[in-house]
Amino acid sequence: MKYPNFPNTRRAFIKNTGIGIGISAIGTSAYPYTNLFQKEVQPNKKLGVALVGLGYYATHKIAPGLVASEYCTLKGIVTGTPSKEKEWIAKYSLPKKNIYNYDNFDKIAENDEIDIVYIVLPNAMHADFVIRAAKAGKHVICEKPFDISVKKAAAAVDACKKEGRLLQIGYRCQYDPYHQELMRVGQSKELGSIKVIRSGHSFFGVRGSNWRYTDKALAGGGPLMDVGVYCIQGARYATGEEPLAVSATAYNTYPNLMDGMEETILFSMEFPSGAVANIASSYAARANFIDVSAEKGSYGLGPAYGYDGAQGYIQGDKMSFQAKNQQAAQMDAFALNIQNNTPVKASGEDGLQDMRIIEALYKSASQNGTRVKL
Ligand code: NAD
Repeated sequence: MKYPNFPNTRRAFIKNTGIGIGISAIGTSAYPYTNLFQKEVQPNKKLGVALVGLGYYATHKIAPGLVASEYCTLKGIVTGTPSKEKEWIAKYSLPKKNIYNYDNFDKIAENDEIDIVYIVLPNAMHADFVIRAAKAGKHVICEKPFDISVKKAAAAVDACKKEGRLLQIGYRCQYDPYHQELMRVGQSKELGSIKVIRSGHSFFGVRGSNWRYTDKALAGGGPLMDVGVYCIQGARYATGEEPLAVSATAYNTYPNLMDGMEETILFSMEFPSGAVANIASSYAARANFIDVSAEKGSYGLGPAYGYDGAQGYIQGDKMSFQAKNQQAAQMDAFALNIQNNTPVKASGEDGLQDMRIIEALYKSASQNGTRVKL
């Protein structure tokens, strides 16, 4: 892999990526994080975003992220709950004509104020709405996981391609300086080849009543779909490689909960270079870290995958980067992609690849941990 114009000191990297704006990531590697710094044109007006689904993440993270955003602004909402409309109209000064429900959503095609549709619905509703948004002529951001199957995710990627619309998956960590350092150190082989990655992302939610814990048709699976996917991403972008094979074992310890879905999953991923990742994700425990062991040393993040407060270490030193609003950074990068017609870092293909890995992991878990090739 080659990194033209890549700054070779950590200080230079902080200087260049700490701002995150005005720099494009165009890569040709299997998992490009950045290999060509290029000046980008900034949008001359903020792009209008419509949020689809006004639950926890849209309300408490994306909407505030839009307030902090340099190139995007909240212009519309799509909700199935009329009682939410008044509050959002008042809070974000939204015109009534920019309020949609799930039935009349397709009329958004006629609304010039909306450039981007951001899907924040339960997992199994993602691909259908991505397709509807692309057909309405809008660029699309889709929350993770992409959907609940390879088939549906692939259909959404195809629809965006066909309509000539850009698609981003809400992998906010890819726009965070700590994760970018994880990518840089691993992919540049600063500490030699990566041999072992350990990662965990778990929280105690198993007794919850949200669709995540109760409704397999909407969630598609347990913690693997929801938070384990961050560890899959971490292992992929630390190595810059795609796994050749995976294996998984699932566990349920709380009787009558997580109906048909795993409560805990332990899994491994084997990469072409020989690196292996050992990962745990659970709704009945608490963990949030990634540790990378390479031939010449180790580094990692912990906490790793939260909205803020990430901390990192490398060879016993503490990493230090300026904190960013991840949602604003993610949406601003997408706005620059739209303005400059540049490749999206957290692309639809990226999300589709995670769906392939997730399907292979569930296949392995259903076969008592048999190794499944990708
Ligand atoms: P949530 O349950 O709080 O919100 C879901 C929204 O969808 C609600 O407004 C609900 O009214 C609406 N909805 C529409 N049809 C529904 C149906 N049939 N059943 C249930 N709800 C329905 O969930 P959330 O935590 O906001 O998660 C939404 C999506 O965002 C998920 O895909 C999740 O993985 C993703 N998410 C991403 C992050 C991140 O850090 N990137 C964080 C949290 C959630």
